[in-house]
Amino acid sequence: MAEREGIVVRRHGGHYYVDTGDAIVDCTIRGRVKRRRAESDLIAVGDRVRWTPIEGGRGIIERVLPRRTVLSRTPPPPRAPIEQVIVANPDQVLVVMAMASPPPNPFMLDRYLVACEAVALPALIVANKIDLADGAADDARELFALYEGLSYGVYYTSATTGQGVDALRDVLRGKLSVLTGPSGTGKSSLLNALWPDLELRTGEVSAYHDRGRHTTVVAQLLRPERDTYVADTPGLRQFRFWDIDPEQLEAFFPEFRPFLGECRFQPCTHTHEPDCAIRAAAERGAVPPLRYESYV
Ligand code: GDP
Ligand code: ZN
Repeated sequence: MAEREGIVVRRHGGHYYVDTGDAIVDCTIRGRVKRRRAESDLIAVGDRVRWTPIEGGRGIIERVLPRRTVLSRTPPPPRAPIEQVIVANPDQVLVVMAMASPPPNPFMLDRYLVACEAVALPALIVANKIDLADGAADDARELFALYEGLSYGVYYTSATTGQGVDALRDVLRGKLSVLTGPSGTGKSSLLNALWPDLELRTGEVSAYHDRGRHTTVVAQLLRPERDTYVADTPGLRQFRFWDIDPEQLEAFFPEFRPFLGECRFQPCTHTHEPDCAIRAAAERGAVPPLRYESYV
């Protein structure tokens, strides 16, 4: 039978659930695919695959199409550094923070942003709980304005009142997005506000609450609308820095770029060296002092 194309939205044991646009088909893998892809994870959610139907409404995956992007993590030493693919082909990462409750932590936000820069994935910031406009939220507004100044897109939302939710939905449409951020910032609430019947439609959302028990990160894609995928799993909620070399870190702060190469010492850690261009830029405000502090 003719091969068809689809996207892997979930895996369980040797079963891969492939979204064909019309249905989710339970597929297994053809042996030769296994032999060809032994290195990295065989097939991850987000992979585009070619599959052929078999009896019983099931399918067999014949091949995996090349990945455009990958979000992976490497286990910490002393385990062997085998790439563990969490999601294949993500288009963007949405880092969800709150205006208050919990108050935004810029250093934590920077960890997410640096992780995205390191894998060259566009990062957007969602500033949720905009309805909580108390005194503390003024500081939050100032903080998020800083990131807008760095050219990160910031979306102000309230899962409670629905403010900004339509704009956020537009950003998610037609893409594969990773939803991440500290717990309690409103990721689940936002998904419900974006697509109130999502849980009904996917029917599997609650399954992710069990994932904590598994040692491997099992991601799942939600497909609230045709061609729109959202990955939201605990494993994606904490990015790690295992494979970021300290000497590379400067490259992941975009606003440092104009000054790199101008330090007296090369390489420069930008911490204690005399005539450091980055430190000088932070002192005169050309680099936001908070971001410099975060880098250090
Ligand atoms: P998650 O851990 O990021 O998935 O966060 P949840 O969606 O579970 O939300 C954490 C808490 O914040 C819950 O008590 C929500 O009701 C509350 N919450 C979420 N979004 C908003 C919002 O926009 N405004 C307010 N005031 N509370 C919110
Ligand atoms: Zn320097």
